[in-house]
Amino acid sequence: MLLPQEIIRKKRDGKILSREEITFFVRGITDGSVSEGQIAAFAMAVYFQGMTMDERIALTEAMRDSGDVLEWKSLELDGPVLDKHSTGGVGDVVSLMLGPMVAACGGYVPMISGRGLGHTGGTLDKFDAIPGYNTAPDNTLFRKTVKEIGVAIIGQTGNLAPADKRFYSIRDVTATVESIPLITASILSKKLAAGLEALVMDVKAGSGAFMPTYELSEELAKSIVTVANGAGCRTTALITNMDQVLASSAGNAVEVREAVKYLTGEYRNPRLHDVTMALCGEMLLLGDLVSTEEEARDKLQQALDSGNAADRFARMVAALGGPADFLEKYDDYLEEAPIVRPIYAEQSGVVESMDTRAIGMAVVAMGGGRRKPTDAIDYAVGFSDFVALGERTDEARPLAIVHVRNEMQFEEAQKALREAICVGKRVPEKKPMVFKKITREDTES
Ligand code: URA
Repeated sequence: MLLPQEIIRKKRDGKILSREEITFFVRGITDGSVSEGQIAAFAMAVYFQGMTMDERIALTEAMRDSGDVLEWKSLELDGPVLDKHSTGGVGDVVSLMLGPMVAACGGYVPMISGRGLGHTGGTLDKFDAIPGYNTAPDNTLFRKTVKEIGVAIIGQTGNLAPADKRFYSIRDVTATVESIPLITASILSKKLAAGLEALVMDVKAGSGAFMPTYELSEELAKSIVTVANGAGCRTTALITNMDQVLASSAGNAVEVREAVKYLTGEYRNPRLHDVTMALCGEMLLLGDLVSTEEEARDKLQQALDSGNAADRFARMVAALGGPADFLEKYDDYLEEAPIVRPIYAEQSGVVESMDTRAIGMAVVAMGGGRRKPTDAIDYAVGFSDFVALGERTDEARPLAIVHVRNEMQFEEAQKALREAICVGKRVPEKKPMVFKKITREDTES
C-alpha cells in the first residue's frame, strides 16, 4: 500500500521515487487526500534531495494529466501545434508578435498565458489593456480562433493542470519555489496540457531574470528540454539576455503599442527583433515548417513585410472581442496616462548597466504590476523610449519616458530609474541577445 508519509520519507532520505509513487502523490494533491503539510514536506524534500530526470518526467506527466489535456487532432489542422514559453522578463512583449508571426508561417499557436506577478510582466495583462479583448473565451471560440487565424492568446482555460495550482500555492509560501525539478514540472505540466507538438522555451539570464545566475538558467533550460522531450513534446530552449529591458518599453498599454509598431514595421527595437526572430525560427524548425535557420528568417521576414503577421494579430484581436480596427487606431483605444514625461540621468554619460529587476519593480510600484495575485492593474502606466546599454544619455537623451497618474508617482519612478540605471564612462561589453541554444542532443551528451 502506498502512503504519502512513506513517499516523503523516501525522498527525504535521498532515494529515487518510482513512477507509481509519484503518480499516487500527485493524485493526492489533486483530490485533496494529501494534506497541505505533506505537500510542503514533499516539496522541501525535493528541494534538498533533487530528482532524477526520470522522476521529473513522471512528475510532469502526472501533473499534466491531473486535469484536462487539450486535443487538436479533431480540428484537422494543416500545420503543427506549437508554442513558446518564457521564464519571464521586463519589457518582454515577444508573445504578442511571435504568435501571429508563426501563424503567418503555417503554424498553429494556442497560447495559454499567465498574468504578471513580481517584477516580470504577464502577457495576459497586456491583452487586458485592449478594450473588449476576452482572455477567457469559451472553448468553442478558442478552437475556432486557432483554426481560422492560426493563433489565439488567452488565459488558463477550464481545468488545466490543477495539481500545479495547489502545489505551487503551497511552494510559494514554504520557500520551495526555487527547485529546478519542481519548476520544470510546474511549467511543463501546464504547457503540455495544451496538447502541443513542439515547444520553445525562452530561459532568461541576467539582471532581470527569474533564475539568479547564468549557470542556473542553463541548468533549468537543460532540465526543461530533457523532461519535455521525455514526455513526448519536441522542445528546445534558448537562453536569452535579460541584462536590460528587452523592448523599448515596460508596462502594459505601452508594450502593446510597441508590439503593434513592431508588426506594422513602424519601429522595431533591434534587441526585441533578435529575440523574437530567434524564438520564432526555432518554432518553425521544430514544427518542420522550414529546414534551416536561414529559411526560417526569410519566411518570418516575409510574414512581417507582407503584412500577414500584422493581419493575423488584428484578426485575433477582433475574433476575441477587441476592436476591428485596432491595428489602425490602437492609439485611440489604449489608455494614455495623464503625465507622460522624460526622466533624465543626474549626470551625462554612457549607460554602463541596468538593474532590470528593479525597473520591473518600479513598474509594479506605479500600479502596472501586482504585489499579490488579487491586485488590480493600471494598464496606462509604465516606461517607454528606454535608453540601451552602451548608449549615451544626457540632456538631449533621457533615460526613458515615464507614463504616470500623478506627481508622487513621477517622483518615485524618477528615483527608482536613476538608481536602477548606472551611468558612467565605461562602455559595457556588448553581449549577444541569444546566449545559447539547448537542444535534445545537447542534453543527451
Ligand atoms: N513559473 C511556474 O509556472 N512555476 C514555477 O515553479 C516557477 C515559475
